[in-house]
Amino acid sequence: MKIMVSACLAGENCKYNGGNNRNEKILRLMEKNEVITVCPEQMGGLPTPRVPSEIKAGVVTARDGRIVDKEFRVGAEKCLELAKREKPDLIVLQSRSPSCGVKQRYDGTFTGTLTDGAGVTAQLLTENGFRCMDVEDLVNICNGVIIRKLFADETRLLKEFLYEAIFIPEGAEPPVRDIVERPELKIYYDEFGTGTADHCLVAETDGRVVGAVWTRIMNDYGHVDDETPSFAISLLPEYRGRGIGTRLMREMLFLLKEHGYRQASLAVQKANYAVRMYKAIGFEIIGENDEEYIMICRLSD
Ligand code: SF4
Repeated sequence: MKIMVSACLAGENCKYNGGNNRNEKILRLMEKNEVITVCPEQMGGLPTPRVPSEIKAGVVTARDGRIVDKEFRVGAEKCLELAKREKPDLIVLQSRSPSCGVKQRYDGTFTGTLTDGAGVTAQLLTENGFRCMDVEDLVNICNGVIIRKLFADETRLLKEFLYEAIFIPEGAEPPVRDIVERPELKIYYDEFGTGTADHCLVAETDGRVVGAVWTRIMNDYGHVDDETPSFAISLLPEYRGRGIGTRLMREMLFLLKEHGYRQASLAVQKANYAVRMYKAIGFEIIGENDEEYIMICRLSD
């Protein structure tokens, strides 16, 4: 893949204070992808180090009161020109920056307060049809498949992937689509994002979300106790068997570990081919009923 990234993430000392935002994820990406680095503030003619700036009433203003809007917009235009020439598949930018932030930026009061909205460069690139992502939302990219966090406006996807997660034994008719409205299934997605263990990663390829793994502490089939998040995972049928599910699961286990969870659980139909994959990544069977295994994966060392 060809990826454009904020230069400070690649370790270049272009930050306002002369430092960088070196990011291991980005350094790993650079090993296997074609990466183009940009620093729009430097490209706009600003020196390094420089006085930090924020967007105040739509105008980029330095902390000392100097208006630097023109330099920021020149830098953004230069990045756009480069993007049009290089045609990157994805642009990964430093979160919250007045140039590079994609979802949020500081609010212009220099008090560390965030507001929704993009930085100048991220906004221009997005308006021109380039796919931009905050570095904090990216998990990894491998063989053209992007693993990233679910965006807040995408929670409707959980219903779709919950339907795909329903195991259909060979020869059986698929259930009707609105089966996911049943109360025992609604708990997987209803008000997702409000619980502390609500985490979701998606796999995106060819500009489309093709798989999702998510966790919640909920009273589902895989519930073992109120401290253990349960897993749900599924992929669109045509993307199964390519290792994407395994990558999603591994990344989610890593994320849960980072959040301090000691174990995670799931329930799986005994006839489901995924049982083997769950065992391979560290899940073990701790219980069963006629149709399902209950499995847990211990996360503490
Ligand atoms: S303008 Fe972007 S690339 Fe340059 S230092 Fe700021 S966040 Fe990093």
